Amino acid sequence: MRAVVTRPGAGRAWVAEIPEPTFANTDDVVVEMLRVGVCGTDRHVMARARGDGSGLPPDTDYLVLGHEAVGRVINVGTHVQHLKAGDIVVPTVRRGCGECPACAVGQADLCFTGRIRERGIVGLHGFLAERIVDKEENLIRIPDELAPVAPLVESLCTPEKALRRIGNARAHLPAKAGPLYGVQRALVIGAGPIALLAVMALRLRDIPTWALARSPTDSPAVRLIQQAGATYVPLQEVDLEQPQAQLGGFDAIIEATGAAELCVAMFGALGPNGVLDLVGGAAERNEVPIQASVLGAMVGRNLTVLGSVNANKDDWQTAVRDLSEMRRAFPGTVEAILTHTFDMDDVDVAFERVPGQIKAVINIAGA
Ligand SMILES: [Zn+2]
Ligand SMILES: [Zn+2]
Repeated sequence: MRAVVTRPGAGRAWVAEIPEPTFANTDDVVVEMLRVGVCGTDRHVMARARGDGSGLPPDTDYLVLGHEAVGRVINVGTHVQHLKAGDIVVPTVRRGCGECPACAVGQADLCFTGRIRERGIVGLHGFLAERIVDKEENLIRIPDELAPVAPLVESLCTPEKALRRIGNARAHLPAKAGPLYGVQRALVIGAGPIALLAVMALRLRDIPTWALARSPTDSPAVRLIQQAGATYVPLQEVDLEQPQAQLGGFDAIIEATGAAELCVAMFGALGPNGVLDLVGGAAERNEVPIQASVLGAMVGRNLTVLGSVNANKDDWQTAVRDLSEMRRAFPGTVEAILTHTFDMDDVDVAFERVPGQIKAVINIAGA
C-alpha cells in the first residue's frame, strides 16, 4: 500500500510502497484512512537528525508521517465491542510507556518517564497511509458528518486540555458560577489552528474572548476570530511592558505561540487569581528578561502559570463534541480553518508553509 514516509534528518517526505499493517490481535481494528492534517510537528520530525535511528519504529528505516487523522473502519477483530465496519473514527496519537502510574490508567499525556511513543512522531508509524491497524481503545468514534473536518479533533484536544487545567487551577475560587469557575475575560495568543480552536472553544462557553497575534487584520485567521465573536488586537499595537493598561486584566490566558518573550509578557495581562496556560513550548536556549516585580505580582494576585501538553481520552471526546457544536454555533468557520487540500502525490508541496495557510490536509488516494 502507499504511504507518506520520511527518515529523521532527511528534511523531506516522499510516497513509498510499504507492507500492509499487521492485523493480528482480537482487539485490532483495520481503518481505511480518509484524510490527514499536517502541521509544524511533521516538519520537525522530517528535520530531526537522529543518527542512531531512535525515533523510528523497530526494524524499519523509515517513519510513516501523520498524526491528525480520520478514517473509516473496514474490519474488526473478534473481541472488538463498540466499533463495526463503516464507522468513522479518529485515532489518538500517544501510546503509554507501560511503566508509570499515569500510563497505567490511560493518561499517557501525564507520563512520568517520558518514554512514550507517538504515532507519526516518535517510535510508531503514523496515519498518512492507505490503511492502519490500531486497538479499539485508541480509536474515537465520531459522527459521520464530522469526517470532512475531523483532522481538527487532534488540534482541538490541546485547548480542551488547557481549558480543563485552567478550570482545575481555579476550582478553589469562590466564584463557582459560569464556565471555568467564573472566567469573565479570556485571552488567546496566536492565530494558528490551535489558537483559533481555543478562541472558538472559549466562545462556545460564552466567555468574552480577545485574541492577540501578528496576523494582518484582513487575514483569513482574523476573520475567523471575529466570526466566532472574539475581539482581535494586533500584537504590534500592544505595549508588552504593560498589556493590562490597554487590554484590561484577564482571568484566563492561553499562550499558543511558544514565543518566550510573549509568555513572560502575558504574566502582566493576568487579573487577580488569573491563570496562564502555555501550550506552545519554546525550545531555544536564549535568555528572556523578567522583572522581579512580575514574580511579586504573582504572589500578590494569586496567579497561576502552568504548561500543558497532549490530552487524555476525555479531552478527545470533548473535542469531538465541541467541534460538532462549533459547526452549529459559528457556521462555516470550522471548515474555513482547512485552507489547503492536497493529494498524496502532492507530497513535495503539502508540507510547505504558504501565505494565508491555516491548516493543510492530505486526502488519501482511493478514499
Ligand atoms: Zn500536529
Ligand atoms: Zn508513562
